[in-house]
Amino acid sequence: MSIDTASSSAPTERGTLFIVSAPSGAGKTSLVAALLERLEGIGVSVSHTTRAMRPGERDGINYHFVDQPRFEAMIEAGDFFEYARVFDRLYGTSKLEVESRLARGEDVILEIDWQGARQVRQQLPDALSIFILPPTLASLEQRLGNRGQDSAETIARRMKEAVSEMSHYDEYDFLVFNDVFEHALTELESVIRAERARTSRVHRRSGALLDALLSPVDALE
Ligand code: 5GP
Repeated sequence: MSIDTASSSAPTERGTLFIVSAPSGAGKTSLVAALLERLEGIGVSVSHTTRAMRPGERDGINYHFVDQPRFEAMIEAGDFFEYARVFDRLYGTSKLEVESRLARGEDVILEIDWQGARQVRQQLPDALSIFILPPTLASLEQRLGNRGQDSAETIARRMKEAVSEMSHYDEYDFLVFNDVFEHALTELESVIRAERARTSRVHRRSGALLDALLSPVDALE
């Protein structure tokens, strides 16, 4: 008999929430996109934002792009799991989207800033948080410049914001330096796989298999 622990997962087991934060330009979005190629049963929550769409971005894919009155109405309605003002724009995670996916047993990644991470930890202390750091400030500056989408003034301001964001690294469970992309990706993947192998989680998912392993041999005959 082959034992497939993945297919024996109970459909009602709640997924795990992973928070991924990083200063702008640290490569978070590319890392998370590559991570999704490597793992099953995990998705990224699409945030709402009032910032303008950048070239190449798509509404509903990168963000739900909304205007300020709409965002404020959503705050009033209690639609956000967390929200924060970042770079003078509003960003928020929809309660409905995250809750329904977790309830379906999907793991969910929130790509949010440190303020949002704090709010999530207060509500879900079991959420795991990962902070992605650039190897050096110079590399961060270079990556911000390479985007070619922002003015020099914006880049200078974002460097300041990056340092401010990085000052919160010690609030996170895991730190990943994005020096060599493949290495950073493997580390990120390892965190998720390790969480999935946590005893309490495997027990919920594969309790029957564990029981079978402990039953007397003659009971199997
Ligand atoms: P960007 O505008 O470059 O896509 O994102 C700017 C910052 O906003 C990043 O630090 C990103 O993690 C953060 N951010 C994106 N979505 C959310 C969200 O839903 N909530 C919070 N708190 N921060 C977010």
